[in-house]
Amino acid sequence: MEEERRNLLPWKGKFTVSLKLPVVLLLVVFGLVPMVLCTVTVVESFRQGQIDSRMMEVQNQCQILSSKLTRTGYLKGENKDGLMDNEISTMADIYNGRIVVVNKDFRIVQDSFHLAEKRMLVAEEVIRCFQGETSSKYNREKRYFAQAFPIYNSAQDQGIDGVLVIIASAETVLSVVDTVADRALLVQLMVFLALLLIALMVITMLMRPFAKFQGKLNHVAEGALDTDISADWYKETRDISRAVERTLSTLKEVDQSRQEFVSNVSHELKTPITSIRVLADSLMGMEDVPAELYREFMEDISVEIDRESKIIDDLLTLVRMDKSKAELNITQVNINGFVKQILKRLRPIANRRKIELIFESIREVTADVDEMKLSLAISNLVENAIKYNQEEGWVRVTLDADHKFFYVKVADSGIGIPEEEQNRIFERFYRVDKARSRETGGSGLGLSITRSVVLMHKGVIKISSKTGEGSIFTLRIPLNYIA
Ligand code: ADP
Repeated sequence: MEEERRNLLPWKGKFTVSLKLPVVLLLVVFGLVPMVLCTVTVVESFRQGQIDSRMMEVQNQCQILSSKLTRTGYLKGENKDGLMDNEISTMADIYNGRIVVVNKDFRIVQDSFHLAEKRMLVAEEVIRCFQGETSSKYNREKRYFAQAFPIYNSAQDQGIDGVLVIIASAETVLSVVDTVADRALLVQLMVFLALLLIALMVITMLMRPFAKFQGKLNHVAEGALDTDISADWYKETRDISRAVERTLSTLKEVDQSRQEFVSNVSHELKTPITSIRVLADSLMGMEDVPAELYREFMEDISVEIDRESKIIDDLLTLVRMDKSKAELNITQVNINGFVKQILKRLRPIANRRKIELIFESIREVTADVDEMKLSLAISNLVENAIKYNQEEGWVRVTLDADHKFFYVKVADSGIGIPEEEQNRIFERFYRVDKARSRETGGSGLGLSITRSVVLMHKGVIKISSKTGEGSIFTLRIPLNYIA
C-alpha cells in the first residue's frame, strides 16, 4: 500500500510541494500546449501555402517565357535583337533570382548573372527536363527553390531544344511568414502570462477552504478538542473533517477509558490497603488482645495482602499482553493433554468445594497456540466456573474440533450471570457481585485477560448463561495460526 502511494507520488518523502504547484502546472500545460500546437500548425501551413503559391506563380511565368523562347527561335540564334535576353533578366529580377538557359549540348547560352555563359550544366534536373519532365525543388534550409522547364523546338514534334532553369529566393514571402510567426509568439507569451496569473488566482481561491480547515485543526492541536471542525465547502474537505472527527472521538473515548482504568486501578489497590489499615488500627486500639484474636486479625491481613498481590499480578499480565500483542510464542500443541493438565492443577480447588470437574474430549486436537497464554485463559474460565458455583455442583469442560477450529466449552452449574451483565463481564474490574468476587479473591481482571488471549489467537469467546442455572463459556480458536 505504502509502496503504491510512493509510486503515485514519486517525490513523496523527499520534499514537500504545495498542491498549488501541480494544479498551476496542469492548468498552464493544458492551456499552453494546445495553443502552441495550434499556432505552430497554422504558421507552418501558412508558410507552405505562401511558398506553394510563389512557386506556382514562377512556374506559370517561366512556362510563358519558355514558350516565348520557343516561338522566337531563341536557341536557334534567330533572335538577335536582345529582347528576349532583357525579358529573361527582368523576370530574374522580379523573382529575386537567377535564370539560366541551357542548350542541347548542356552548354549555358544565357545567364541572368552573366557569370556562367558558355559553361556546361549537366545537372540531374536538366537531364530529366530533356526527357520531358519539369522539375521543381524547394530548399528549406537555404530558403530558395529551383525549377527547370523544357524549351521546345518551334517546329512541331521536333523535341526539346534546351532547358530554362530558374533559381529564385523565397525570402520575400518567408519574411511575411516570419513577421506573422513573431506576432504569434508575442501573443502566446502574453496568453501564457495571463494564464499563469489566472491559474494562480483560481488556485488560491480554490485552496482557501483548506487554509481555513487547517486553521481549525491547528486550534484542535493546541488542545481545544471541542472545536467545530466541520468543513462542508467541498466533498473532500467534508470527508477529511468527518474522518478527523471520528479520530478525535476515538481519542476522547481512549482517553476517557484510560482515566477510568487509572481510577479503577487506584480504587482496587486501595481497597485491600484500607482493610489492612482498619484491621491493624483496631488491633492497635485494643489492649490485652488475646493471642487467638491476634492470629485471626493477622490471617485477615494476610488474605488482604494476597488479594493485593493478585491484583498486581493480573494487572502486570494485562499490561504485558497489551505490550506484546504481536509476540505470540506459537507452537504445535496437543490440546487434549494440555486441557487435562490445566484441570489436574485446578482439581484440588474444585475438591475443596466438592465440585465435580469433568473433562469430555470428543476428538483428538492438535493446534498452533501460545501454550502459556492459552493456559491462562482456560484456567481463568475453569477457576470462575468453580468460584461462582454452588457446593457439590459440577464443571464440565468439553473439547471438540472441526476442520478449521477447535472449541473449548466450560459449563458450570453455578449462579449464572444476568443477561444485561453478560456484555460487561469482559471489562476490566467489572464484577457482577462485588462482595462475592472479593470473597473468592477475584481481581475482576480474569475475563478481560481471557478475552485478550483469545483475540490474540484470532479466536472468539461467547457466553450463554441464566441466573441460577449456570453459565457456558465457549472458545473458538483456529487450528492453524496465521499471523
Ligand atoms: P473475578 O476476578 O471477579 O472473577 P473475572 O473477570 O474473572 O473477575 O470475572 C468478572 C465477573 O464475571 C465476576 O466477578 C463474576 O461476577 C462474573 N463471572 C465470571 N465467570 C462467572 C461464572 N462462571 N458464573 C457466574 N459469574 C461469573
